Amino acid sequence: MSPLLELVAVHKAFSPNEPAILRGIDLSLAPGESLALVGESGCGKTTLGKLITDLHQPTAGKVLYKGQDLRTMTKKEYQAYRLKVQMIQQDSFAALNPYKTIFHSLQAAMRKHGFAKDQNEARRKVHGLLADVGLFPTEQFIDKYPHQLSGGQRQRVLIARALSVEPELIVADEPVSMVDVSLRISLLKLLRRMNQKYGISFVYITHDLATARYISDRGKLLVMYLGEVMEVGDIRQATNHSNHPYFRALVAAVPQGVANRQYTVPDLPLKGMDIPDIKQLPTGCIFHPRCIYATEKCHMQKPRLIQQGAAEVACFHLNEIEESFQ
Ligand code: SF4
Repeated sequence: MSPLLELVAVHKAFSPNEPAILRGIDLSLAPGESLALVGESGCGKTTLGKLITDLHQPTAGKVLYKGQDLRTMTKKEYQAYRLKVQMIQQDSFAALNPYKTIFHSLQAAMRKHGFAKDQNEARRKVHGLLADVGLFPTEQFIDKYPHQLSGGQRQRVLIARALSVEPELIVADEPVSMVDVSLRISLLKLLRRMNQKYGISFVYITHDLATARYISDRGKLLVMYLGEVMEVGDIRQATNHSNHPYFRALVAAVPQGVANRQYTVPDLPLKGMDIPDIKQLPTGCIFHPRCIYATEKCHMQKPRLIQQGAAEVACFHLNEIEESFQ
């Protein structure tokens, strides 16, 4: 199946005098497949989300949608891409116009792009969308203003708004981080249901590894550190067996009490908790200042992603590390 989305050797720098915030990112997503993008704050995952939605453009490399480079699309193709790739933001209050009712917020794009021919059809469809995202009874929500809803309800409205233009890919940037903990899993399960029901691909950006596995049962998990990919693999296998020392440390940091935790790796200490300054990137493997397995080679050379079981991992010493746990 040809990819829905591809990133080829993508670099992104915001200033020519500073190191690129993203370096050498390759990524491929099939139609209906989802991706959980995890990493600490400042690792570049939000920037990557904005490159996928073309809110930022790469300094080098390409972003392709259905095999076409965004920069060489015709105007018509680009408009279709912008419609088919939607973004759900973290702050649902800022993302919704406080002076517009939920109906007006949801019907605007629908009417503009011909998904509803008149008000009556738009209203019928908005009722359907609200039902789809679990806002029952829909009559109680459709004419409300954003401030009359809870954070979790507003986030569901944002999901409904993204769905209103029949997208093929939704980029969700920390969509549950501002929602009460008790509601997070139900919102992620809603995204997963939309993936299964409509075949929509999701890119779920999060610093919270514990929630990543709820986004999809078919897809990838990509671990970023300081603007580079450390590990990418099947989401189910990756959350059960991590390879890269950084990913192992992230998994070890997930609280033992998290429901459904199936991780089996022992705790793994880091040399230090401080993330290096992006302006002074370490030589060789960028993780070496924090890695307890770092050798001379790690200081000097940058590891490439290599196949390790079902995953691809950027580390020189995977076999030795694996043996040390046996
Ligand atoms: Fe650690 Fe070396 Fe592997 Fe980097 S390449 S993660 S420093 S062992």
